[in-house]
Amino acid sequence: MSASFVPSRWVPGDRLATRRAAPSVAAGAPTIGVLALQGDVLEHLRALERCGARAVTVRRADQLAAVDGLVLPGGESTTIGKLLDRFGLRLPIRARIDAGLPVFGTCAGMILLSDELDQAVGQPLIGGLAVRTRRNAFGRQRDSFDTRLEVAGIAGGPIDVAFIRAPRVERVLRDDVEVLAAIDGHPVVVRQGALLATAFHPEVTGDDRLHAAFVASVRSAHDRGQRTIA
Ligand code: GLN
Repeated sequence: MSASFVPSRWVPGDRLATRRAAPSVAAGAPTIGVLALQGDVLEHLRALERCGARAVTVRRADQLAAVDGLVLPGGESTTIGKLLDRFGLRLPIRARIDAGLPVFGTCAGMILLSDELDQAVGQPLIGGLAVRTRRNAFGRQRDSFDTRLEVAGIAGGPIDVAFIRAPRVERVLRDDVEVLAAIDGHPVVVRQGALLATAFHPEVTGDDRLHAAFVASVRSAHDRGQRTIA
C-alpha cells in the first residue's frame, strides 16, 4: 500500500506577522487597513503612509474592527473571495460597508466590491457597490498596459496607473454611483458614497493622488464620527 498524503490544515492568521504602524505617523491620523490575503499589500501600505495615514494589515475580524478605512488590493478575485470566507472576513467587511466604512477597491478589489458580475461564475463577492463588472475586460495577461488617465476630482493632470488583466464596469446600477473616469465609454473609476473603486492598480506607479484622495475621505468620515460621539 502506498503512503497517502494527509494535508494538515493551518489555522488562518496563526503564523502571519502583523505589521505595525510606521513610527512617524502624526497623532490623530486615520488608521487605514489593507486587506492582506493576496496582492500588492506592501505597496498600498507604503502609499497610504506617504499620504499621512497609519497603515495596518487586516487578516482577522478584530483587526478589521480597528480601522477607519480599508483598501482591497488587486490580485485574483476568486482566490481573495474564497480566502475572505476562510478568514471569516467577507460578511464582517460587508457589514462595516453598510455602516459607512470607507473602502477603496483596486482591480480585483473593485470586482469584490461589485454587486454583480456579468459572468455567472458564482464567486464570493463582498458587494455594496451598485455596479455590474466584467472581469478581464481588456483581454488576457499580455494585454495588460500602463497608462495615464484623467480622473475627475484629481488635480494636477492625468494619473499614472497600471491595468493588469483589469476589469471594467459594464453597467452602473444606481444613480448615486459617480463615474470619475472611463475608457471607451466604460467606467474604470467609480465612487458611491464612501466607496471608491478603480479597475487599475494605482499603487505600483508612485503616483499617490488617488490614495491621498481616499485618505482625505477617511479623515473626514473619521472626524464626522468623532464629532457624533463627542
Ligand atoms: N483578473 C483578476 C480577476 O479577475 C484581477 C486582476 C488584478 O487584480 N490585477 O480577479
